[in-house]
Amino acid sequence: MVLIQATDLTKQYNDVVAVDGIDFEIRDKELLVLVGPSGCGKSSTLRLLAGLEDITDGELRMDGKLVNDVSPKDRNVSMVFQNYALFPHMSARRNMTFGMKSRGSFDDEEIDERVREAAELLGIEDLLDRKPGELSGGEKQRVAIGRAIVRDPDVFLLDEPLSNLDAKLKTQMRAELATVHDDIEATTIYVTHDQTEAMSLGDRIAVMNNGEIQQIGDPQTVYDYP
Ligand code: ADP
Ligand code: ADP
Repeated sequence: MVLIQATDLTKQYNDVVAVDGIDFEIRDKELLVLVGPSGCGKSSTLRLLAGLEDITDGELRMDGKLVNDVSPKDRNVSMVFQNYALFPHMSARRNMTFGMKSRGSFDDEEIDERVREAAELLGIEDLLDRKPGELSGGEKQRVAIGRAIVRDPDVFLLDEPLSNLDAKLKTQMRAELATVHDDIEATTIYVTHDQTEAMSLGDRIAVMNNGEIQQIGDPQTVYDYP
């Protein structure tokens, strides 16, 4: 089943065309990697998917509905950022529960249970009372991933989540993210400039350049290209 469908999707900032009329489909529970050089329009595409930016032209549908017609609170989309974007004055646990508590749609028992499950999956059970300043880069990123998955998202977006980590941690976190993807069964769009990351994680890969998708396919087809 196709969950996300973009048709002639375009994003322009003043005179910069960041996303230049792209078409793609993402199947339910698939992991699609958007890969390409800095400035090619990956983040802008992701931000359109997240509803953080208005669409300039074209169409974006999730589950058949135009995203503009669905209010953000009815869209179960969560996002992980390169710089973690954790609240510095809140504990890891509070960072993870804040969004759910402010929505008011879960009771405390369910929130505790979800935090326990996410923390176990990410191996951060012992870090939940610490604030971001007391965590390493990898630990902060695990908490940020925990915050995103604790809501059980339908659509999970990641923007260069590993680019601030050293090489060794990158390899380790890549494996962890593959496990997380298998476990949470969310449709996942993962942005990176790193081909190795794209190859090892993607069910399919979309190669972007200059605001356009140049190729889209499974890792073998895309990188066997002469
Ligand atoms: P990538 O994620 O591939 O690095 P971006 O989507 O961030 O690419 O950027 C694509 C282009 O759009 C770049 O030229 C960038 O400078 C420009 N751009 C991105 N965001 C904005 C913005 N908020 N205002 C103006 N230009 C932007
Ligand atoms: P990334 O591309 O990895 O997301 P950037 O540093 O390019 O990171 O962008 C960070 C933020 O700055 C984003 O919100 C993006 O929209 C905005 N941005 C990027 N390029 C520009 C630009 N040329 N002018 C204004 N804002 C920009």
